[in-house]
Amino acid sequence: MRVLIAGAGPGGSLAAVLLARQGHDVVLVDRSEFPRDKACGDVIGPRALAVLKQADISLPAHAHRIGSMVLGFEAGQITLPARPGLGHGGYGVTIRRREFDDLLHREAERAGATTRVGVVTKVTRAGRRLSVSVGSESEDYELVVGADGANSTVARSMGLMNADRALMGFALRRHVLGATREDRVDLFLEQGDTALPGYGWVFDQGDGRLNLGIGVGIGTQRTRAKGARELLERYQRRLQAQGIVTITGSPSEMGGWLKMGLIGQRVADDGVFLVGDAAGLVNPLQGEGIAAALLSATLCASAIDRYGANGAGAYRSEIQDHFGAFLSTGYLAQRIALSHPRVARIAMRTLMVAGRYDRIASAWGLFWNDLTEYSGLQTGSLAARTMVHVGAAITQGVLGSPEWLG
Ligand SMILES: Cc1cc2nc3c(=O)[nH]c(=O)nc-3n(C[C@H](O)[C@H](O)[C@H](O)COP(=O)(O)OP(=O)(O)OC[C@H]3O[C@@H](n4cnc5c(N)ncnc54)[C@H](O)[C@@H]3O)c2cc1C
Repeated sequence: MRVLIAGAGPGGSLAAVLLARQGHDVVLVDRSEFPRDKACGDVIGPRALAVLKQADISLPAHAHRIGSMVLGFEAGQITLPARPGLGHGGYGVTIRRREFDDLLHREAERAGATTRVGVVTKVTRAGRRLSVSVGSESEDYELVVGADGANSTVARSMGLMNADRALMGFALRRHVLGATREDRVDLFLEQGDTALPGYGWVFDQGDGRLNLGIGVGIGTQRTRAKGARELLERYQRRLQAQGIVTITGSPSEMGGWLKMGLIGQRVADDGVFLVGDAAGLVNPLQGEGIAAALLSATLCASAIDRYGANGAGAYRSEIQDHFGAFLSTGYLAQRIALSHPRVARIAMRTLMVAGRYDRIASAWGLFWNDLTEYSGLQTGSLAARTMVHVGAAITQGVLGSPEWLG
């Protein structure tokens, strides 16, 4: 079948690899020429590594390993342990997106996809076919995969997203020269600050450079992202003052939007499939989205392999099975943090005390990183699974069925 994939981030490129390997005629279009950079913490998490391995794609040996991580909140901190589970290795890696995305883009070409530079401006239906406009030219395709990120043109063109409901976030990262004592994430809930709740991070890139950034949950109001740079400044100063990082070189800065929790999204309809950020699959608790982009690309390619242009229903239910319970729990947590920061603060303080016990810290790490599906009988996995299912039941009970469940 003739397939147009809009966007060559991890989701689009992996979809192109898998569909081209299946023998489809794949055109992969991105607005940027590759290699190109992308705002990111540059962490490819354990789940993402598992999906890449399944697709037989290896990362370069210099990708730097990230294991256990310090989680800070107010004056306290705990260590989230990193242990292998049934389906994941228990560690992630940092690799710059310029290199990672280029590697996948080249893999798509190697698999037989045609790559093009161009901006997808519109998708319309023309009978059974889909007409895709790239710049001023239009062509017909049998299938379209929207992998064009948080502001997806494909999702908007095809009426697959409700902008009034979408749960948005904004994140800003710096690449700096320096060193850190530890890989670390800090949660913020300070009241009276528009750009909160949120989190900050610092990850060692293993080459004398750090990725340092912040992410903020903004609900549906993009103007709440306004204080993000000031928050990053303060966070960086705090890490320096505490002696956690030393910075020796000037930063390069880049920011981007996150679309989280599947809220207000329909991920597929009649020959059109959304993957990754376009489908709103970012983890609302910690902003990770590469694993979801890669996994959704795999599920999309598999639905197309089995049902061709009629695979939308199968894809929607696969997305629901793999992401529904966790994302609805994350959505609830974000709603509470946005509307009732005091309740969230009590919950976080309790967690910081309980998290001194290894089993609880392990459960929190699995839950927070959405690793329960891959964890088997790992320490804390039962508690993590319970958190996901109780959270999902509460979300549906309290807030009613989110649109994407219908
Ligand atoms: C600051 C920041 C830090 C983050 N840190 C992490 C992290 O450490 N780990 C993690 O897992 N996730 C992280 N994320 C989230 C992660 O970056 C995304 O979830 C991930 O990139 C999603 O991949 P994707 O393929 O769906 O979309 P993207 O990577 O966004 O790729 C979309 C592609 O589509 C192209 N495009 C967009 N519109 C068009 C158009 N109209 N026509 C043609 N091409 C188009 C873009 O050029 C882009 O190449 C972070 C995000 C931000 C903003």
